[in-house]
Amino acid sequence: MTIYRCAHAWIDGQVVDEVDVIVADGRITAIQPARLVGDIVRLDGLVLPGFANAHSHAFHRALRGRTHADGGTFWTWRQAMYALAAALEPQSYLELARATYAEMALAGITCVGEFHYLHHRGDGTPYDDPNAMGEVLRQAAREAGIRLTLLDTCYLAGGLGADGVLPIAPEQVRFSDGSVQAWVERVSAIAADEGMRVGAAIHSVRAVPREAMTTIAEWATGRPLHAHLSEQVAENQACRQAYGLSPTEVMAEAGVLGPESTMVHATHLSSSDILLLGEARAVACFCPTTERDLADGIGPARALLDAGCSLSLGSDQHAVIDLIEEARALEMHERLASGERGRFTPGELISALTGVGHRSLGWSDAGSIAVGQRADLVCITLDSVRTAGANPDQALLAASAADVQQVICDGRQIVRDGRHVLGDVATGLRDAIEATWSRARA
Ligand SMILES: [Zn+2]
Repeated sequence: MTIYRCAHAWIDGQVVDEVDVIVADGRITAIQPARLVGDIVRLDGLVLPGFANAHSHAFHRALRGRTHADGGTFWTWRQAMYALAAALEPQSYLELARATYAEMALAGITCVGEFHYLHHRGDGTPYDDPNAMGEVLRQAAREAGIRLTLLDTCYLAGGLGADGVLPIAPEQVRFSDGSVQAWVERVSAIAADEGMRVGAAIHSVRAVPREAMTTIAEWATGRPLHAHLSEQVAENQACRQAYGLSPTEVMAEAGVLGPESTMVHATHLSSSDILLLGEARAVACFCPTTERDLADGIGPARALLDAGCSLSLGSDQHAVIDLIEEARALEMHERLASGERGRFTPGELISALTGVGHRSLGWSDAGSIAVGQRADLVCITLDSVRTAGANPDQALLAASAADVQQVICDGRQIVRDGRHVLGDVATGLRDAIEATWSRARA
């Protein structure tokens, strides 16, 4: 049994001062005023539940700081992403993903949803284990000390033309299983474990024919089901041309929308799209630092919440891995778009960071500091140059990932005094990224 003595902890939607969180076997067993004696670990700051990063493509981390030259557009970014994807093999993917997940742990992330489509060899043939690349992600998360939901992504088509989906392009061939039946067969062989759940993802209306979406949704019954939705205006236009429907309407007709489904980005929506998503009680996963990096636009987060959706957050392409910044950006982008402050309460932002994110990844027993929950605790210092003087209940509007000092995941401390148990994560990232790009150039 370990006693975590929290100076301030986020419990039941408010900050509670001087409280002991008692942990045994990875679970919270009691919460009471600070007066116990015994094996005490002091968490001197604001203690939040573990953060869930509900949308990640781990390998995109290697694109950070490399896509801004020559006025880089979304499409030049995408060419760089394809070149990178082509250079990855299981061993190099492991090194990159492990370092990326360790960076996430340093930012307070205790669970990641990996939207995984890098399935096969560069020529599209399967590895000896057809799930070798997914297994690499399992190992990477385990070594970084965080939980994983593998959102195995169906990716079958090369875009949308006027008459429906286009054939897969050569640079996308390693993403594809060839048919939805082959995808079902492959993902059905992946076993969950104590640290990993398996869910499904539909890449987008661009990459999955609508008949296949129904098969994927059926397979995913009782599991998380994620999809990219209306990230770009061009996607909506192509979808209307092909089907006479918006991407949301296509997903609704195919049976994709429901409380276990998470629509990622949800940027360019009509008011009837928002109603459909709200009626389905779907989760909308916003990735504000990616959406601004790629010039996607600002999605209707407040309107979705008011319509009945829940909101979660993801760092997606990892231009930034700082979920505190994602949460703050949810509010700040709304302020810019609406001309109003206070669009979300701090409690709503924390809920997106923690409880909703975990639920959208299939971990309903994580994401709050409560008895019986997984012992995931994130301590943010209130003594840094950024946070000094802030009220604890508003520190989220001042802090950054650099203020995350202690992280406990499933009762195990994976970040201590701002250092990850694996050691020097920056060197791990640099080595993995440089090695990958040198293979991409070769
Ligand atoms: Zn994405």
